[in-house]
Amino acid sequence: MFKDFYEMVEVVLILCNDFSPKEIKEVGRAINVCHTLNNDKDKRYRLYQSIEGMLWNNSEAINIGFRPFLRKKRKEVNEMLKYHELNCKGIGCQVCIDRKKVYDIMKTEM
Ligand SMILES: [Zn+2]
Repeated sequence: MFKDFYEMVEVVLILCNDFSPKEIKEVGRAINVCHTLNNDKDKRYRLYQSIEGMLWNNSEAINIGFRPFLRKKRKEVNEMLKYHELNCKGIGCQVCIDRKKVYDIMKTEM
């Protein structure tokens, strides 16, 4: 479904915008664990396990199915990031603001 773990992380970070702080921290922990795994497929499997439970709160994911939902998101995120790469203006950029918000939550202790 994803080309590699790196691409999956990009999509999951965008999905995090809809997750609760507690869920975002859980995703952050899962990504850290994944970095200790050697095999790319194992990493993707581990990360999928961590987000699967959170997708049950997403009505679109439930309606169309988790895998089609992730495939759709993957396409959207790839297009969005391509656009962002060419058009990011730094300060005031919504993509950068959202991403920083997610990283900050991942970093805070709870
Ligand atoms: Zn930006």
